[in-house]
Amino acid sequence: MDTVKDKDWALKSKVWLELKGRPFIGEGRLAMLQAIQNSGSIIDASRKTGIPYRRMRGAIREMETAIGAKLVNAYRGGGNGGGASLTPMAADLVESFEKISRFYEQSSDTRLEEFFSFFLFSNGKIRRSKTKRRSNCMESFDVLLKKSVESHGHLCAGQVIGVRMAMLGCRLLGIDDPKAPEFKKKMIVYVEIDRCATDAIESVTGCRMGKRTLKYKDFGVNAATFVNLKTGDAYRIVSTEESRDLAKKYAPGETDKRKQQLEGYKQMPDEELFDIQKVGVHLPEYDMPGPPKRHAVCSRCGQVVRDGKERKIGDEIMCRPCAGEGYFYPVTSEIETDAV
Ligand SMILES: [Zn+2]
Ligand SMILES: [Zn+2]
Repeated sequence: MDTVKDKDWALKSKVWLELKGRPFIGEGRLAMLQAIQNSGSIIDASRKTGIPYRRMRGAIREMETAIGAKLVNAYRGGGNGGGASLTPMAADLVESFEKISRFYEQSSDTRLEEFFSFFLFSNGKIRRSKTKRRSNCMESFDVLLKKSVESHGHLCAGQVIGVRMAMLGCRLLGIDDPKAPEFKKKMIVYVEIDRCATDAIESVTGCRMGKRTLKYKDFGVNAATFVNLKTGDAYRIVSTEESRDLAKKYAPGETDKRKQQLEGYKQMPDEELFDIQKVGVHLPEYDMPGPPKRHAVCSRCGQVVRDGKERKIGDEIMCRPCAGEGYFYPVTSEIETDAV
């Protein structure tokens, strides 16, 4: 009998998108659209994928009728006897469907380890799942929560939400391990509130203000946007207000409101806990990680202002306090440091 190794196991699942109860796109149609995108022709795409030409045309027609929009622009004539291209909508569809498939594949790997650990670790020597961390894979929720609680100072619902939000953000961006060397300074997170969850997001992603990879927007919203600097992809994840009431449903055994939310948020599926938007983020050059690209000198007080944060009022360059944007006001004149 052959020995079975952990890597011989795989958990498989299929994803397809349905519209009004009818399959709209799955693996096959994705391959078809990709082939059209790459070859610029339905005939060539048919040759490459082995899907008969007529069936391809039929599938395209069916999809276009279902959503009431054009997906493939085909034209006759020209040098190579016609061609075809995807409409922007179809290109978006391909991109998003690829991403969601990848997302399911990756979460399948995690689930396999989570639920079938008795199989995975029973061959030969038994290993603790803690030591099983692969170099390119994010740690489990429990481990990440523990670390986040350590740095935050206490266990709270915000830690659970923040850890889950960060894990989801990384998965959506195709970043397996945000702390791996290949993702160093390749990811930026915008947080929109200065409360508990923000610490958890920092702990999971390793994004920090000091590295310019964590940006704070004072919006008072329980939300964060995760940006992959390599691909430009960005997702804004908002913690839903409904989840507060739903927590009961997922932690029926708990009567204490605080514990109910803590446990409820652990169990609740992502789609109930969060709203996810694919977004674009305009990241100014001066806000990127790396050494300051600009220094200016305030014409009023002489203060050096880095990273293009100076103000120009009329012809005058000023620091923000001198421009009237200070959050502080002077109480006494300058203090002698040796007197402190
Ligand atoms: Zn807290
Ligand atoms: Zn100044």
